[in-house]
Amino acid sequence: MAAFRLVVDSYFDGAAYHAAGPYAMDMVDGVIQGVAAAPPDENAAVAVAAPGDASAAPAAGALRAPFAMPGLVESHCHLFLDGAELNVQVRKAYLKAPLPEMMAVAWRNLQANLAAGITLIRDAGDFYGVNTHLKQNLRRHLGLKPELRSAGRGLRKAGQYGGFIGVPITDTAGIVPAIHGVAPEADDLKILLTGIIDFEHGRMKGPVQFNLDETRLIVETARQLRLHTFAHCSGPEGLQVAAAAGIHSIEHGFFMSPDILKMMADKQIAWDPTFAPVYFQFARPELAGWNAETVRRLDGILKQHFEMAALADELGVPLLAGSDAGSYGVAHGTGLIDELFFLRQAGLSMEKVLAAATSTPRRLWGAAPANIAAGQPADLLILAGSPFDDPEFLRQAKAIYRGGELFELQPAAASAA
Ligand SMILES: [Zn+2]
Repeated sequence: MAAFRLVVDSYFDGAAYHAAGPYAMDMVDGVIQGVAAAPPDENAAVAVAAPGDASAAPAAGALRAPFAMPGLVESHCHLFLDGAELNVQVRKAYLKAPLPEMMAVAWRNLQANLAAGITLIRDAGDFYGVNTHLKQNLRRHLGLKPELRSAGRGLRKAGQYGGFIGVPITDTAGIVPAIHGVAPEADDLKILLTGIIDFEHGRMKGPVQFNLDETRLIVETARQLRLHTFAHCSGPEGLQVAAAAGIHSIEHGFFMSPDILKMMADKQIAWDPTFAPVYFQFARPELAGWNAETVRRLDGILKQHFEMAALADELGVPLLAGSDAGSYGVAHGTGLIDELFFLRQAGLSMEKVLAAATSTPRRLWGAAPANIAAGQPADLLILAGSPFDDPEFLRQAKAIYRGGELFELQPAAASAA
């Protein structure tokens, strides 16, 4: 029986903030036994278990820390892509790289997620099967590892956007066989429902890939296979189709409208607004060669996106925190933390922001809950201070306690491939 006591000044339990510490959390064999007010002298009474490297500390022991919360959830990323690579030619050439090279990149990205305190990752798909191989490799890995759920390969219309993510479908008759083809490797079914944004003109590139009947068929077929659906989708036409068809989660969702949000609230369709990749275009316009006019357009797109995220929160649309890490300019791990700051900037309370990256995705996906409560398996992230005092502490992940073991975190740059 491995017992471990964590004493914190404050904690977020997955829904609410508890600021009147110190609190003692007692774990036995990795399961939380209870959380109680710690005696005032607890600070001096406990020994601090501080491993000198990234390996596990002895499970039996105690740790005094400023703040704890459930491990973070990254709702949308592409582990096979290095978002920090800014050379467009290198990125293009990489899509022809052999699988071992992609696996090395994905492994590095996985470590960057852990270093940021992320313990559950949803990979939004790649055509090359990297996320599927990674999931298999993780089963054999003994050290600290996140839970990984992934789309495997997504679905797209032949000739439309998303060749590096989805299998091409030529016509309506191809939909059901294609879903049965990708389903064995998918935890969630990813659909490329629209193209990407034409930043210069402030509109969508290309048509909506699947019409309403086709999208309904996708959702229904996925339902029969017990798969949730999540759709890459922006622009009013695509959003209308996604919401009307009852897609489980809308990813990106730029050019959102109050009417679509009301429909999403009614149907409890989640929204993952992924501010980070568009914000990067705005913040570093010189990289894509955007002129002042396009920068103004990007600013307008982002302002509207912030407003819609605030309205979504008000209307009760379940919000998810996903960074789309792997996209141009969005690094893994730090990208999700940036996304939390964007949700905060939209006006969400810190409780709502943290719920979007902990309890909400776990609940919607039917994943194991990680809330801090008696009887729950402990999946704890320890920060250097409370983000309710200063949000910058979100960038200072110190340790993860998971599977009954304490792992001290190293900065992402120090992690090896
Ligand atoms: Zn994506």
